[in-house]
Amino acid sequence: MQSLEDRYREWDGEFVLTRYDAATGSWIFIAIHDRTLGTAAGGCRMSIYGSPADGLRDAMRLARGMTYKWAAIDFPFGGGKTVLAVPRPLEHAERERLLLRLGELIQTLNGAYGVGVDLGTTPEDMAIVGRRTRWVFGLPAAQGGSGDPGPWTALGVHAGIRASCRHAYGSASVRGRSILVQGLGGVGAPLARGLAAEGARLLLVDAIPGRAEALAGEIGAEVVPPEQAYTRECDIFAPCAIGAILNERSIPRFRCRIVAGSANNQFERDADAALLHQRGILWAPDFVINAGGAIAHGSLEVLGWTERRVRERIEGIYDTLDEVFTEAENRGESPLDEATRRAARILSDARASRPGADAAAGS
Ligand code: NAD
Repeated sequence: MQSLEDRYREWDGEFVLTRYDAATGSWIFIAIHDRTLGTAAGGCRMSIYGSPADGLRDAMRLARGMTYKWAAIDFPFGGGKTVLAVPRPLEHAERERLLLRLGELIQTLNGAYGVGVDLGTTPEDMAIVGRRTRWVFGLPAAQGGSGDPGPWTALGVHAGIRASCRHAYGSASVRGRSILVQGLGGVGAPLARGLAAEGARLLLVDAIPGRAEALAGEIGAEVVPPEQAYTRECDIFAPCAIGAILNERSIPRFRCRIVAGSANNQFERDADAALLHQRGILWAPDFVINAGGAIAHGSLEVLGWTERRVRERIEGIYDTLDEVFTEAENRGESPLDEATRRAARILSDARASRPGADAAAGS
């Protein structure tokens, strides 16, 4: 098992602010990966991990993912992420205390990082964090924020699924396509509703008993047991729950043509991208297809765009992915290789055009 020290040695980011919150038995990891393009921005994940090192690893990977997400869509933010590794689900006063402490820590970073919602946290949680820092996105709409990013992320994933269909089948339409959505939360539920409205045939999976059944009743879909998520035949597998679902064990079992969903860090190891590619399964890079919520928060709350402009920008994920797929095919590489190259090119162009950027990032 890898230790905290091993995690630090392996990581190529700027720094991780780490605290142990004795009152709740939780670890706080604020990972700042790269600020070449601007202030680091990324959500807060609250989850139970096998060990603190696992939580740290998640924070580091997620922060790196945010750097590439912002760069791949050429948006002026850097990569950062918070992980709250809690020992059990926290509620009420305990949860509030931990979130206030997080707000205080973020405030000490003086604008180096802004936090938002991710798996396990809500806009209401961000309102609590916002009592201690102004560096918070995704507050409830009633408090002047842009609210839940889930529907915006779903809009981008829907556009990305259409781009994937165009590439795999020659038509962007999802009408009649079978789409298995794993995870029916903030992103998966609005995604499934949107796809069903366009005429797709939905297969729904969720770990919480009753959740898939309730949505299936609403939109006329089929419920699939969680253990069949990776083996059930379908056109498109849309992972919208957890990361690392694409690995040596699951990839040989998939019976789909496309994998395109919102989950972050879908590959357990980068090398697994080649495995999926060899099987002829088209993969929409997670950090591109799931950027809708991040675009909405950044553009509505920081850049002051109108909703119409935000919607158009998110629907532009279709064009970005179309370019990624075409270029990857021309080079005979996986979409992960091409999307990573695209992001690295945008980062290196930014560094080259702003020679002081490295020094500023370290200040
Ligand atoms: P959520 O917590 O609202 O919903 C997740 C859903 O997945 C829940 O219904 C949960 O029961 C289900 N789930 C968890 N483990 C599962 C499993 N093993 N099998 C089946 N279902 C399972 O989360 P969300 O906001 O919808 O985010 C989903 C994914 O998308 C996460 O990986 C998140 O990091 C990523 N993401 C979310 C956003 C956003 O805007 N919310 C943006 C980018 C990426």
